[in-house]
Amino acid sequence: MISIVSDNRLRSTEAIWVVFSRDKLLVPSSADTLFSGFWQQLPFLHHYAPSVVELPPLSPEHELHQPVFLLDLGAEAPSHDDWELASMRSLLAAGSEAQFSVLARAWQYVYFLRTHRFCGQCGTRTELVDWEMAVQCHCCKHRAYPRISPCIIVAVYRDSQLLLAKGVRHKESNMYSTLAGFVESGESLEQAVHREVEEEVGVKVKNLTYFDSQPWPFPHSLMMGYLAEYKSGDIVPQESEIVDAQWFDMDALPVIPPKLSIAGRLIEAAIAQFGPKDK
Ligand SMILES: [Zn+2]
Repeated sequence: MISIVSDNRLRSTEAIWVVFSRDKLLVPSSADTLFSGFWQQLPFLHHYAPSVVELPPLSPEHELHQPVFLLDLGAEAPSHDDWELASMRSLLAAGSEAQFSVLARAWQYVYFLRTHRFCGQCGTRTELVDWEMAVQCHCCKHRAYPRISPCIIVAVYRDSQLLLAKGVRHKESNMYSTLAGFVESGESLEQAVHREVEEEVGVKVKNLTYFDSQPWPFPHSLMMGYLAEYKSGDIVPQESEIVDAQWFDMDALPVIPPKLSIAGRLIEAAIAQFGPKDK
């Protein structure tokens, strides 16, 4: 349930605070990415007291158990010596997966509220539903929930080689990664894997196995990972998406994504299962 935080509760020293300004997060200049006691340290936040919301509790399996308070400053950018604004992507490498997942969930919620201020059906201003993560139109009763966009991500292997590609977005960084793409309406996850691989690199795959999933807040994807065996075809990169794609020996990989991302973990899993066994 989403709730406005009471004045008393705002003084809690254990709550995790997540404060957004535009698409950046307010973080201490010299510390952890998650922190408590924010209220005491940043007196100017008192002006925003009525806008602070408490997010629903994290799942019981999550390693963090504190309440999470969220504040969206919108276009306002506070200036303070001890605090700075950091991008979500820069925080990906700064903390643990558990910490990042708290920030990722908060960001998806902020993004949802910013893009659902008005009813998509009749145009009336929406209101926060206080028993679930949703907004509702009091006029026509249309209710909207945070958008989640399913994406498949797939490590394609052939003997002890992996098919990795450099996307147009990573042109400068020289990073090679697994293939990924959005699931289209009416499509199963497996159909999306076959279609995306063929579209992006021109090859066919077989023997799909599900690996794991990860919410990915850029801005609201749910990545669902697969391992897939090469079936047929030569690599033909899709020019609009892929700068280069190649087969790499698993013991001689290029720069790959960090293990905090599902892409990094998929590559690690493929190597563990299909990599050279003499090591
Ligand atoms: Zn409406």
